[in-house]
Amino acid sequence: MQTLVVEDEVRLAQHISRALIEAGHEPTMVHDGETALGEAEAKHYDLIVLDVMLPGMDGFEVLRRLRGAKMDTRVLILTARGEVSDRVTGLGLGADDDLEKPYATQDLVARVSALRRRFPEKAPIKLKVGDLVLNLADRELYRGPRRIELSARELTLLRVLMREPGRIFSRTELCERVWEREHDYGVKLVEAFISRLRKKIDSPPLIHTVRYLGYTIREPE
Ligand code: CA
Repeated sequence: MQTLVVEDEVRLAQHISRALIEAGHEPTMVHDGETALGEAEAKHYDLIVLDVMLPGMDGFEVLRRLRGAKMDTRVLILTARGEVSDRVTGLGLGADDDLEKPYATQDLVARVSALRRRFPEKAPIKLKVGDLVLNLADRELYRGPRRIELSARELTLLRVLMREPGRIFSRTELCERVWEREHDYGVKLVEAFISRLRKKIDSPPLIHTVRYLGYTIREPE
């Protein structure tokens, strides 16, 4: 499930993202309201975790504009403790749920998972590239009849590629999408994981290196 995390405190955003990845979600982080709105308009997110207190355009304004643009993405807002007015404002603006700060990470993950159950996933349950099939519901991967075991990170990397076959992903983008932050050894990390994925799934090859640009997955010709 594609989740947008909007939180200006970078470490907190990273912490949320890591917990969501472990629970099988696909978070993308942004740190201000304007960027959040641009992201939400450009891509289809299933869920937005939206902090109300953001510099510049605050979370309420982001929510107001989302709903004004008739976007029905589920929104979980993060409000300040004891601010009942925040809660009322948020739900009045069309938030699907709210959580008071400070919250326990497991509560946040539980709310996100509950929203997911309340609204069945619109995205396809299976991703397919040639004879490679990834079932998103139970996270099982098959190449033809052969079942393949992947680690959580390998699976996330493959899922990012398989969602958009033919699209070229730079190493930097893959690093941000899979490890949810700028990583010091990001490029090497991506290369190492691509190499592992290839060993496990890639004969005949599906994952292709595009010189100077990055990687793409596509059906054999
Ligand atoms: Ca904040």
